[in-house]
Amino acid sequence: MPAEIIDGKQIAEEIRGKLREEIEHLRQVYGIVPGLCTVLVGDNPASVSYVTAKNRACQELGMNSFHHHLPADTSAEYLLGLIGELNATAEIHGILVQLPLPPQIDERKILEAINPMKDVDGFHPVNVGRLMIGEEVFPPCTPAGIRELILRSGTPLEGAEVVVVGRSNIVGKPIAMMLVQKRPDGNATVTICHTRTRDLGAHTRRADILIVAAGHPRAVTGEMIKPGATVIDVGVNRVGTTESGKAKLVGDVDFASACRVAGKITPVPGGVGPMTIAMLLANTVKAAKLARGLPV
Ligand code: NAP
Repeated sequence: MPAEIIDGKQIAEEIRGKLREEIEHLRQVYGIVPGLCTVLVGDNPASVSYVTAKNRACQELGMNSFHHHLPADTSAEYLLGLIGELNATAEIHGILVQLPLPPQIDERKILEAINPMKDVDGFHPVNVGRLMIGEEVFPPCTPAGIRELILRSGTPLEGAEVVVVGRSNIVGKPIAMMLVQKRPDGNATVTICHTRTRDLGAHTRRADILIVAAGHPRAVTGEMIKPGATVIDVGVNRVGTTESGKAKLVGDVDFASACRVAGKITPVPGGVGPMTIAMLLANTVKAAKLARGLPV
């Protein structure tokens, strides 16, 4: 039987629906309108489209969205000054600096300048540390989306063998750290694989839940998957164009062969991608509530 598809688009829509209600409640009862400010430096087309999608999503939910689009030759000093202003602006609850930044700007310095309580991307070392010690405040958005997909697909996490392919700071390491925590949405046994892993297939074939964030098409194929496993494909790889001229996207998992073996699988597009923005919105609403001292 082919694998059941985990529909990230549908799940993200459900989450956005709930957030819309929560935002309306915050507005009516407390007069709070959650606000996200995005900062884009330069004109990288992928970054422009990500930022546009994030701002549009805020507006659709009735949130405030602010945006600063700076030239590619912006200095680190200028950007640091702007972040200082955004940190001090009460109606901005979340700040998102779109990465990558141009080479003259040290990304780490910029991310560390964001007030951790406005760090809705979850990249500030304080929030990374909180996640590590089990005191999560703002989980990074893509890993948070992955966890949500696993939970909502009905895949049990407790005691599950989870294998993560990829050890980046934005996906591989944080999702591994989240799923190993001693809490109901964790409690898994987690293995992290990377390019120095000996015999990748020996690890992936043990996985009840296989999360692939390698950044290469076909990094995982059907014969590397345990029958019945839940497979979360994080990869987004552009491989030419479709008939309508749009970029053709594939994941890191060979979907056709994986579908014949896996129990459940996320598609690309329409799996993890839509969840990332939904989680960003959720973090921003959380930031607005925390700023007012409301329970979250
Ligand atoms: P990254 O920083 O390039 O990291 C890739 C990781 O995968 C590295 O740790 C690398 O190992 C490992 N790796 C690469 N090829 C491998 C192989 N054949 N076997 C085992 N490990 C391998 O990538 P990333 O930022 O984590 O992103 C991963 C993918 O997810 C990309 O396709 C990206 O576009 C996508 N992504 C999607 C979303 C979304 O919202 N849908 C968000 C973020 C990322 P080494 O450390 O040894 O080099």
